[in-house]
This record gives sequence, C-alpha cells and structure tokens, in this order.
Amino acid sequence: VVIENLGGPLRTAPHADGPSDPASIRRSNLGLILRHLRDQGPRSRARLAAETGLSKATTSALVGDLVERGLAVEGSLEREGLVGRPGMAVELHGRSVGGLGIEINVDYLSATAVDLRGDVVAEATRPIDAATGPAEVVLDAVGELAGAVLSELGSKSVWPAGIAVAAPGMIDHPSGTVRYAPNIGWRDVHLVDELSARLGPGAPSVTVENDAKLGAVAEYAEVSRSGVRDLLYITGDVGVGGGIISGGRLLRGSNGFAGEIGHMPLDPGMRPCACGRRGCWETMVGLAAFLREVAPIDDPVHDPSRDLEERLGELIARHDDGDERVVDGVAVIAAALGTGISILVDVLNPRHVVLGGYFAYLGDRLIEPVSDSLRERLIDPEVELPIVSASSLGLTAAARGGAHLALERVFADPTVVEV
Ligand SMILES: [Zn+2]
Repeated sequence: VVIENLGGPLRTAPHADGPSDPASIRRSNLGLILRHLRDQGPRSRARLAAETGLSKATTSALVGDLVERGLAVEGSLEREGLVGRPGMAVELHGRSVGGLGIEINVDYLSATAVDLRGDVVAEATRPIDAATGPAEVVLDAVGELAGAVLSELGSKSVWPAGIAVAAPGMIDHPSGTVRYAPNIGWRDVHLVDELSARLGPGAPSVTVENDAKLGAVAEYAEVSRSGVRDLLYITGDVGVGGGIISGGRLLRGSNGFAGEIGHMPLDPGMRPCACGRRGCWETMVGLAAFLREVAPIDDPVHDPSRDLEERLGELIARHDDGDERVVDGVAVIAAALGTGISILVDVLNPRHVVLGGYFAYLGDRLIEPVSDSLRERLIDPEVELPIVSASSLGLTAAARGGAHLALERVFADPTVVEV
C-alpha cells in the first residue's frame, strides 16, 4: 500500500501488490511523471523519459494526457539542463486544481487552499473557542469555513481535489478519528464522518492528520526542490509536537502517533505533564517552561488573556536589551532544546531541522545555541551538520500542509482530474 509520496527518488520497481492491468499502470505512470515535474522542475520530454526509465513514446503520450487535463503545460524554453541544447520544456501547471487545508486551533480556525504548483489560492480564518465549546460547535464552524472557501474556489474555477483537517492531538488517520486532543478536550471524535455529513453529498473527500505532521509537510514542500528528503519539524506551543519526513515520506508509525516528541522522558526534575506522565521534554521546553524561566510569576507576560505574539515581542525586546533574567532563561531553554534535538538527530539523521511555533519567534536567539550544541556533539567532523532554521510559514503551516496533503490524491492518480 502506497502512502503519500511527497517527493524524492522515484520508485519504479514493480511492487508485489502494485498495478498490473494496463489502466492501473497508466494511472501510476501519469503520477510518476507528475511527481517528477513537481520534485525536479521543468524539463524536456526526452529528459523526463531518461530520468523516469519510461520509453520516449510512452512519456510523450503521458505528457499529452497531463496537458489535456490541465495538470502540465509545455512550450517555454528549458531553462536548466544541457548547455547549447534548449528544447521545449514540460512543467507542472494545475492552476485549476486545488487542495484545501483547515487547521483547528484552541482559539481560531485557519484555512488555506493551494493549487498544484503550491501557490496559495484562498485563505481565511475564524475565531473559535475550542477549549470550552463542545466539539459539535467547533465542527459546525469547520464545516461553515470549508463551505465558504469551497465556494470561493468555485468562483475562481478551481476544482477542489480534497480537504485535509489539521487537529492538535493524536490522530487515527485511516479511520479519520481524533483519538485524543487534550488542549481542546476531544476524545474519539469521528472528524471525517462528522465533517463529511455537514458538507453533504458531492463534497470533496475529507482526511484528518495531526497538526505538527502537516506543519512538516508544508515545510517540506518549501525545501524539497533543493534536494532535501529528510526533515524534522518541531513546533513549540503549550505542547511540543514533531513531524518527521523520512526519505520523502511522512512518518506515521504503527499507530499513527510517530512524532509525539514532546513526551520524551528527559526532565530530571520529573515535573508533571498534561499527558498524565512526569518528566516529559514538553515540561522543559514548552511555552509554560519558557515563560517560567524568563519572567517571575507576577509579570504581565504570564497573562493568558494577552495576545501571545505581543508577549513574545516584549520578551524579545527585553532579551535584546540584555535583561539578565530573559537572557539566562533563553539559555536554559536552548540547552534543553539542544539535548532533545541531539537525540532526535542521532535517531533520524535529518538534513533539515525546522523550528516552528514560539521557537520560530525567538529565531537566532535559540537557533545559534542549538546549532552549537549539535556541533559540539559531532562524532565525525566529516559528517555534515543538519541545517537548523526557523519556520517562515508562521501560523499557516499546518493548514498549508493540509492543502498539500489533500493534493496527494492527484499526484497518486492524475486521472481523478477529468479532461
Ligand atoms: Zn507528557
């Protein structure tokens, strides 16, 4: 069973339970060409044939089919490639095909739709109160937001290939269920069934995935064209979550819970964690730990009713003014972050580590000491260190990742888009 192929080296070897009838083989080869164009960029038919191992005649026929469906376009001169031999290039098109991602947060919903090239076609947000409101009310709001964005796509003549919802918690992706999301108080909510029922017949298919995993998918889409295939995304909020792309694939694990890195037992102080256990990494580097380290408990930056961005801005200003408490606090967080990331780097060997959430706000104040701690622990000086960077996608990462995930249907089988 093929899960999402988010990019990377082509898998041309026939699989035991792979397609065998001509129609299935054709669908699978169309997907192969389309993914190759996405991952490698525009190139000539001849080069596409050489690189995919398909014959020139087959490649030409497949390209013709993709062009007819509006998923590829040809005509412009090939910009890269062999010197002195410019030819007609085939490139990804798909301007009229969109994927929709919707993120459920504690206090807002965020929707992003992207076209096949990854460009944003529509965006919207809605305030909600998921912490105290019942799941039905949140689901109604998700349905209403999805409906609004779907009509916007319709007015722009963009066909929606699918909807992927990002939820903060443990997700059973195959059954479309949110198993446990402590921050919004959900347990066993059948999100896919509930949302599909609200959208009615004829609506695009719905999936659900963990928000940090989808954040990783969005970050991966940003860097995969530069050849990165292994990426670790770490997001710091009240909770600390992770998303792992390994060999170009989203790692889910046997129960779908891979990436619950906030609960690695790393805290020697054994502080209690929201998950019910003690000593989780989250209690050392989560937002609560950060605020505890950088300001006394009666400081206004602890006030949860104040906007988080504003509070973080205030703390960054104090840090840059040399406020000792904040400088020391950031150093404590950076050291604890470095310990956990060192373990994850040893286990996963990522090429790129992207920090999201409040970590991204602190930027180089955290990234430099974390990179230093990775360098200090390097066993073999010949080995390249992973690149550590701050997410540039901000609050839209998970919704955008959902939009990419929704489009995987088209990359797996381009014939879902009608001629
Ligand atoms: Zn925990």
